[in-house]
Amino acid sequence: MLKKLFGKSSAPQAVESAAKPEAEKSTTKQGVEKKDPKPRKPREKKPAKQEKPWSLDDYMVAPQEGKTRFHDLNLPMSLMRGIAELGYEYCSPIQAQTLPYTLDGYDAIGKAQTGTGKTAAFLITVITDLLNKPIDGARYIGEPRALVIAPTRELVQQIADDAKNLCKYTGLHVVSLIGGVDYDRQMKQLETQAVDIVVATPGRLMDFKERSQIYLDQVEIMVIDEADRMLDMGFIPQVKRIISHTPKKSQRQTLLFSATFTPDILNLSERWTHEPIRVEIEPERVAADTVEQIVYIVSADEKFGLLKKCLSGDKVESVIIFANRRDTTRKLHERLQKAGFKAGILSGDIPQNKRSRTLEDFKSGKLKVLVATDVAGRGIHIDGISHVVNYTLPEDPEDYVHRIGRTGRAGAEGVSISFACEDDAFMLPSIEELLGRKLNAVLPPEEMMG
Ligand code: AMP
Repeated sequence: MLKKLFGKSSAPQAVESAAKPEAEKSTTKQGVEKKDPKPRKPREKKPAKQEKPWSLDDYMVAPQEGKTRFHDLNLPMSLMRGIAELGYEYCSPIQAQTLPYTLDGYDAIGKAQTGTGKTAAFLITVITDLLNKPIDGARYIGEPRALVIAPTRELVQQIADDAKNLCKYTGLHVVSLIGGVDYDRQMKQLETQAVDIVVATPGRLMDFKERSQIYLDQVEIMVIDEADRMLDMGFIPQVKRIISHTPKKSQRQTLLFSATFTPDILNLSERWTHEPIRVEIEPERVAADTVEQIVYIVSADEKFGLLKKCLSGDKVESVIIFANRRDTTRKLHERLQKAGFKAGILSGDIPQNKRSRTLEDFKSGKLKVLVATDVAGRGIHIDGISHVVNYTLPEDPEDYVHRIGRTGRAGAEGVSISFACEDDAFMLPSIEELLGRKLNAVLPPEEMMG
């Protein structure tokens, strides 16, 4: 039943890069071995700070019929504290359906989109696994025990942020590796102490692998997130190579998530996972139930004036404005700034470090307004977004669902306002078909016009 009981850190692992010459290894005072012949002293792992003794009394959640509490899963106390601090009470459906198995070592393939809590589902599995099987002996620099790969830099950063939050009291070291930002800085993070969890985009991870700055033969648990997007973006060959450097699938635990289960994805899942459990969570339509959807009929010329009025509303705390094209996004951003709004922009042509700063400023509330394209906006995990504006309606109805899913997250109320001019109106029927209901398109109230 517990298939990975012996397969994790204890069993000999048949791996490609196992043949490390003994002579290259050296051991530091802290017991962290490294392959670099130059002695460089790794920083001592600091124990997590404990200001006050924490216990489950600080995190009381009443049992509820049909719901799973994190308390019911026998998770390590340091992880429970992180979960409590994030304010989670009950498991989301994907968590409740996967955790009982993945915590037992089973592989899993999950059909789940962002907004379902899938990130915490796999991170809680990873963290519990690492904490329950501490490594007594020496560790090597650049040898993660857990590897998470995801297709985009934004997604990697969000996963790494979630991982750092959940790991806050565990002493586990999380490193993210993404393209477009300083290579050396990422390398230093790997060199200063043994790394437990690496979260990476496939390209940057392969750069590190090829320069022998990372070794994947000690990976006990591996997560492939948004496998369908990896496929769309042409990353599968890289992912295959990455996986070939990790232990055999019977000797690692593998969790794969994808928003769709196409035959291609199911084929890959079969190759990469070992007797997985399969969980399917219905798409974000669920989230859409907590979103009030308004559609205003406007002419193209009236859109900007109406947008300004919408942004000035009382209840507007933070807003993402979506447009279909990068140039529309850029122009809109410029006009908003000229009109005195503190607005940021997220689109593919903005450099990565600037995008990260913008996201941080938006998260912290420094920026109230964010203008984004679908690709850049997809997968943004920010709670507390009060409004989403569809400045243009998307051509793909799935994008509409994704967009409005940015608000009304985790049960909170949200408002989506769509501007439907003549061109946009063509998209409405297919969106309504996907939603399974009609959207009531109305003229904006008079005080919002002119
Ligand atoms: P994800 O699907 O991973 O993008 O998660 C969506 C959002 O739900 C994130 O902001 C998480 O912090 C939040 N979340 C995840 N699990 C829970 C939970 N059990 N209870 C409340 N919020 C959660």
